[in-house]
Amino acid sequence: MTKYIFITGGVVSSLGKGIIAASLGKLLRARGFSVINQKFDPYINVDPGTMSPFQHGEVFVTDDGAETDLDLGHYERFTDTNLGKFNNVTSGSVYQRVIEKERKGDYLGATVQVIPHITNEIKSRIAGATKQFNPDFQLIEIGGTIGDIESLPFIEAIRQFKSEAGIGNAISIHCTLLPYLPTSGELKTKPSQHSVSVLRSYGIQPEILVCRTTRAIPKTEKEKLALFCSVPKDAVIECRDMKSIYEVPLALEEQNMADVILKMLQVPLKKPELKGWERLVERIKNPKKTIKVAIAGKYTKLSDAYISVVEALKHAGYSNEAAVEIKWINSEECIDEKRCKELLSDVQALVVPGGFGVRGIEGKLNAIKYAREHNLPFLGLCLGMQCAVIEYARNVAGLKGANSAEFDENAQYPVIDLMLEQKNVKGYGGTMRLGAYDCILKKGSVAQKAYGKEKISERHRHRYEVNNEYIKQISDAGLVFSGMSPDGMLAEVVELPKLDWFVASQFHPEFKSRPDRPHPLFKGLIDAAVKRI
Ligand code: GLN
Repeated sequence: MTKYIFITGGVVSSLGKGIIAASLGKLLRARGFSVINQKFDPYINVDPGTMSPFQHGEVFVTDDGAETDLDLGHYERFTDTNLGKFNNVTSGSVYQRVIEKERKGDYLGATVQVIPHITNEIKSRIAGATKQFNPDFQLIEIGGTIGDIESLPFIEAIRQFKSEAGIGNAISIHCTLLPYLPTSGELKTKPSQHSVSVLRSYGIQPEILVCRTTRAIPKTEKEKLALFCSVPKDAVIECRDMKSIYEVPLALEEQNMADVILKMLQVPLKKPELKGWERLVERIKNPKKTIKVAIAGKYTKLSDAYISVVEALKHAGYSNEAAVEIKWINSEECIDEKRCKELLSDVQALVVPGGFGVRGIEGKLNAIKYAREHNLPFLGLCLGMQCAVIEYARNVAGLKGANSAEFDENAQYPVIDLMLEQKNVKGYGGTMRLGAYDCILKKGSVAQKAYGKEKISERHRHRYEVNNEYIKQISDAGLVFSGMSPDGMLAEVVELPKLDWFVASQFHPEFKSRPDRPHPLFKGLIDAAVKRI
């Protein structure tokens, strides 16, 4: 029978609840249990696909083509489990379903209300995921902060769910912040006490308290928290700031968090197998070298906008015993060759990540030209590949007026064009080419050797593609189209095999990288970068 663990947050937002939920998932997986994580987001967007990365960070794409919250990326990376559309639920998607049902007449005669209709729909999303995956543990994180108006229906739904599940079948974890006051030299527990009392006023008594803090919590303060918040002393868990997020599971394990939870959920204890993870953390904490990788993009002010890219680069670094330092470059600054040289001469690799819209494109093209001409290891992701094709078309294949139809509808040579299947698509929500598709790699190509196989499956999120009318001319000029869709109609990977590493993909490899299993394309990039120091 599935056991349920709800995770809420209080005091402030951005507490790292996602990392805590992912870390607990890891600890349970390390004990051989099956685990799925769910994220409930209280905003009205049906999914985050239409939100600006400035607002909400990266949109994480699952195999089944769901556009989801970036926390799903953490869940997948920590628990090594592929998730899907059931794992992210938003208020928007809940209301949409209830309103659809109302219009169909499913509630004929009834007044449709937040309780019970919205809360029932939320509960059915929990039950639906249980039915689909039948996990030993289902971890459900509620976005936002306790006290927010918009998360109330979710909180009420978990209150109901907990009492219906019965004692020993569902618990809740509340994550809070213990601020440190330098003037008195104290960690303060009062905001956490208040946060728990707000949660209690909604009918939820947390069983576990996870306290984010910058320093060790004294025993007396732990006891105070236990007393005032009505949790056992061993259920007050300290979660200190760490250099690497991958240390968090080990810090929680040291405090027996998973065992405390297993006891509460009446599950026999098991020993965790964390040796591999400990070795990983050892490697992360003791890098032998540091390499600098430039990411030239548009959303560089918010590193969360490219979080899977950053993590994938780090993962590839770990396997090389190298720390990866990111140099964020606003591509609009890459105005000419001289500026590119200034910006890129101190890095060992360049990544041009995904993106939308024309702003900063010319700078990306300049940066890619610099990488190509100076043999700087380069990886292009989605938009980054489209830019690599445009750059090559313009500067090598003699197609000076090459562009993407996304940036110039009247481009002389639209080497990147809207996909046929996209031509009649109206509306923006969930309408791109999304999720996992197969790709066939050319035997002996750089990409094929990196993967060690010819047939791969990767995740996509795009509307535009390489225009097949130009493939011959561009490949005659030397750019190798080394990955195609199985029907041969869609360019998926391009490369310049003569350079140390110049590979770009229409798909997003970053979504499938794992801390202890770096993605081959990122590994190839970092392997080449390491050779330059
Ligand atoms: N804007 C491009 C497209 O829609 C690239 C998308 C992306 O980088 N995710 O095809």
